Amino acid sequence: MKYISTRGQMSEKSFTEVLLMGLAPDGGLAIPKTIPQIDSDLLNQWQTLSYPELALAIFQLFIDDIPTDDLSALVHRAYSKKRFRTDDITPLRYLDDNTAILGLSNGPTLAFKDIAMQMIGELFEYVLNKNNQRLNIIGATSGDTGSAAEHAMIGKSHINVFMLSPHGRMSPFQQAQMFGLNEPNIVNIAVKGVFDDCQDIVKAINADADFKEKYHIGAVNSINWARILAQVVYYFKGYFAAKNKHRGKTISFCVPSGNFGNIYAGFIAKQMGLPINKLIVATNENNVLNEFFDNYKYNIRPPEKVYETSSPSMDIGKASNFERYVYHIIGGDSKKLADLWQQVEKTGYFDLSAYANKITDSGFISGQSRHQDRLATIKETFATAKDIIDPHTADGVYVARQLQKSNKLDGLVICLETALPAKFEETINEALGQIPPRPTGYENIENTDKYVTVVDNDADIVKTIVENKG
Ligand SMILES: *Cc1c(COP(=O)(O)O)cnc(C)c1O
Repeated sequence: MKYISTRGQMSEKSFTEVLLMGLAPDGGLAIPKTIPQIDSDLLNQWQTLSYPELALAIFQLFIDDIPTDDLSALVHRAYSKKRFRTDDITPLRYLDDNTAILGLSNGPTLAFKDIAMQMIGELFEYVLNKNNQRLNIIGATSGDTGSAAEHAMIGKSHINVFMLSPHGRMSPFQQAQMFGLNEPNIVNIAVKGVFDDCQDIVKAINADADFKEKYHIGAVNSINWARILAQVVYYFKGYFAAKNKHRGKTISFCVPSGNFGNIYAGFIAKQMGLPINKLIVATNENNVLNEFFDNYKYNIRPPEKVYETSSPSMDIGKASNFERYVYHIIGGDSKKLADLWQQVEKTGYFDLSAYANKITDSGFISGQSRHQDRLATIKETFATAKDIIDPHTADGVYVARQLQKSNKLDGLVICLETALPAKFEETINEALGQIPPRPTGYENIENTDKYVTVVDNDADIVKTIVENKG
């Protein structure tokens, strides 16, 4: 399998090459040259595989430069009961006959990002070790990416992590998970700004080719192709878990979305031939994506127009993975794609009404929630199913319910649980008047020392921190 850039100016690369790359040199994102196709025979064979076996089967279709035995060892290390507290890795549970929750948040930091990040940690260490290379990972997080990345890189001898987060915008639990780490290879940097400012600093550093080369800069944020690939697996796993119970029913996935990485993985699964009915993009008050699927206009928000919400991991004004989807919609025309993104940079806007049919055919629908909707959904889910869901997951459940009620969605909908409620106690308390239980081992994590540097919104300051360490 070879990889190309959405903007068309990168020579073909192998999987391990794009693994260690942030943005492509032409400013685009890496994508596979073709999408492998799964027929119904293979789907049937995969039905009974364990999570790591299924992951291996899928990865092998996209990775041809890591020997199978090695890849198998990495996959089994990443997806173990020890790390995810369950053999299923992503267990499925039901709220009612037509609504299920796919538990993606049983990893070390209690959010779905662990699933990709645990695998990335193994892949990075393997490849760097083999090539005798080092990597300085610079990432931006609104909360969950950062802690998932840091926890996946603890003890990895070839890797430093420099993680930027918006100062004062993460929950106390999220802050504790990151800033509580006192590890020689982990550096927490709190930027005075919002998430998009952090992301812009990462982009600015990656745009400095000399610096990037000299300091071996890499990425773990959701533009990294390997993260998308790792996330493809649980769409298959969730589908298989539901299929036997629902003969004849369609199966859709509802995904609380921010940077469009999670749901884009579902789109890859669908393109591979997994019979997904609808892919539902659920946003919060920061509804750039919901607007797009409503009227085909992509209207990004500058950082100062991004609301601070009770589902903070979805507080984004532009969705970095969206470019990969648009590339598909415009038929792989990388010249046009580069023009569209140039237009966005200039005017903050583009219009794909001309592609309305293609967008509809791609299977996406969307919806959004407000704070009160999420609270009501958390309350209702607790009352009717004795199940406490986090505010991000509640966003998805709310959107799914709205679509079900208005008959825009039939069959089974699998809502992705993107975090555990323990990470967002304040909002749960607001909804239920009680604090959700914490998993064993997480009882007192706020009571540790904090290791973090607060800086102004300035890429040069961050560069200096990297230079001093690297
Ligand atoms: C990252 C995250 C999201 C958004 O996922 P994207 O891949 O950015 O669309 C939603 N919920 C939680 C809890 C997250 O951590």
